[in-house]
Amino acid sequence: MFLEELFSLKGKVVLVTGGGRGIGQVVARGLAKAGAEVAILQRSEPKEAIKEIEDDGNIAYWVKADVSDEKAVDTAIAKIGERSGRIDVVFNNAGICIHKGTLEASISEWRQVIEVNLTGEYIVARSAARVMMEKGIKGSIINMASMSGSIVNIPQWQASYNASKAGVIHMTKSLAIEWADAGIRVNSLSPGYIATPMSTETPQELKDAWLPLMPLHRMGKPEELISAVIYLASDSSTYTTGLDLIVDGGYSLV
Ligand code: NDP
Repeated sequence: MFLEELFSLKGKVVLVTGGGRGIGQVVARGLAKAGAEVAILQRSEPKEAIKEIEDDGNIAYWVKADVSDEKAVDTAIAKIGERSGRIDVVFNNAGICIHKGTLEASISEWRQVIEVNLTGEYIVARSAARVMMEKGIKGSIINMASMSGSIVNIPQWQASYNASKAGVIHMTKSLAIEWADAGIRVNSLSPGYIATPMSTETPQELKDAWLPLMPLHRMGKPEELISAVIYLASDSSTYTTGLDLIVDGGYSLV
């Protein structure tokens, strides 16, 4: 009972971007099990993710938008307002990665990664914070960063991704201070390598190169991020803001 109260999301409406696949799908289901009503924002319809949550007896629905399209995000967030009446938590999770050396990558590929990972999270955070402020909601925004925001991965080159995630970490700290008086907490989550469709598409030779660098000798599972997000989303973290919570099995320490 004590733990249930501490980590409960009952009565909270949670927006999960990219909640239809990978980490977002697994965490969205976990947030719904903790009591939240979940709105999934992404480009394609997340049929399977929504069915899973409904089969558990919980509530989820889709709002369509590309996170880098300000107008589409504002429209999607307005739809959540109409349907659920509020937004308490944002899990700003949608993101992409392009593995290419800097001399081979085009500037448009650089822009694409920065647009989705950094500008997209900024657009979603801003649009949701407006709703929170208008309604006087003491909300929580959790921005998906990565250990790549603090370390440089090897042997694959991904300067745009690393820079976007470093940007997310400092944007998070900046928004945490800017919105502290409004009662909105802003934190980031920095996972290490997590086994998802994004990483299963990764060539085996890359994964073989990562393994000796992993103190726990394995990739993480999306399920191992649920509790970290519930902590940041729930009232158990009301004195935590501006934190970058690293969940990487110790990878970034060695
Ligand atoms: P996936 O590729 O499995 O899923 C990405 C999700 O984001 C999809 O649901 C996709 O839906 C959505 N998405 C992508 N682009 C956009 C867009 N422009 N607008 C709206 N939604 C979009 O990724 P992961 O689950 O692996 O990663 C999720 C997050 O975690 C990312 O931010 C990633 O950088 C971060 N991360 C991942 C790690 C890993 O090892 N997997 C490690 C550290 C951080 P749709 O295409 O329909 O829009």
